[in-house]
Amino acid sequence: MTDDTTAFIPLATPEIRGREWEYLKECLDTGWVSSVGTFVNRFEEEFARRIDAAYAVAVSSGTAALHLALLAAGVRRGDLVIVSTLTFIASANAITYVGAEPVLIDAEPVRWQIDPVLVRTFLETACERREGVVVHRDTGRRVAALLPVDLLGHPCDYTTLRPLADAWGLPIVEDATESLGAAVEGRPIGHQAQIACFSFNGNKLITTGGGGMVTTDREDWARHVRHLSTQAKADRIEYVHDEVGYNYRLTNVSAAIGCAQLEQLDEFVAAKRAIARRYDEAFADLDVLTPQGESVGVESARWLYSVRIAPNARLAARDLMARLAARRIESRPLFQPLHLSAPYAGSITCRGEVAEELWRQTLSLPCSVGLTPVEQGKVIEAVRAALMP
Ligand SMILES: *Cc1c(COP(=O)(O)O)cnc(C)c1O
Repeated sequence: MTDDTTAFIPLATPEIRGREWEYLKECLDTGWVSSVGTFVNRFEEEFARRIDAAYAVAVSSGTAALHLALLAAGVRRGDLVIVSTLTFIASANAITYVGAEPVLIDAEPVRWQIDPVLVRTFLETACERREGVVVHRDTGRRVAALLPVDLLGHPCDYTTLRPLADAWGLPIVEDATESLGAAVEGRPIGHQAQIACFSFNGNKLITTGGGGMVTTDREDWARHVRHLSTQAKADRIEYVHDEVGYNYRLTNVSAAIGCAQLEQLDEFVAAKRAIARRYDEAFADLDVLTPQGESVGVESARWLYSVRIAPNARLAARDLMARLAARRIESRPLFQPLHLSAPYAGSITCRGEVAEELWRQTLSLPCSVGLTPVEQGKVIEAVRAALMP
């Protein structure tokens, strides 16, 4: 038995309270446990319908989704792909897997997403168009795509990014692994791009244990992603393969859990947004604390509720993290900016100071879908006690 006053409050845990057991049993009873089966098809169809995409292809992880989406979008060895420096490393790793290199762009200070002004500056000052191809002048490399990441569930500024990408003829491969459930001007996330990637790992909004999804309105790209995810097998019977493929399919067991989780998506997003609203209100009078917030015209999934602590606060973010840990409350800093990471320190980088500041100053607070009002009250009380003047 744990004493309630010392019960651990985790950052974000999965919520299993729907028909997961029922679907799993059904899946196991049929014997279709591997990567063919009715739950895989159903998960893809229902996911596509939910986010209003023409096609959805289920894969084994969000990272696999990004890898195949980049290949489908035509990114090749030696290309450059524009991405935010402030993201989980998987976004850049997928670029590396195809043999391309990231161009790391600083975050903007308001919602912490890729700064569209810097993207424009990079294209206008460092690149030129040669016979319909965007070329980075210094390296002679082709710029092949834009990979915006909806950090912490808040959509990037697509109102600016989409026309910019269109003007330069660059496809947008969206890393929507953190923003399932978000919307831009009433349209589900994923529509702002030519191809979008989702993740169902353990701490994402819905989970399949591990898994991912690629969505697109382009039939040819969807077909290519599906082909690549199944070892590029080119014949139904014979083991004949027409390119280098991958074993990236989602299993029917995982998809069964996914179908049950997807049924609860609206409920989960509503819970996340209610938690965020209560935190926002509880911290409104603390000048030294700024939540990520939400831009006009967008609905954030509020995946991980995060706050920025000003330099003049009584405690720095990591000291606050230690103070909360002492009260058995888990919190977590943001991702290390990629231009500071060992594998990407040498990448082409456009500024990076904002991302570095956000990395030093920002913490994510407990926001599980199942977080109780009492638990949230404890977090609020602990944060306020630590930061009140
Ligand atoms: C979670 C995540 C991924 C990768 O998803 P996996 O399913 O864990 O492979 C990629 N990019 C970002 C920004 C993420 O948060």
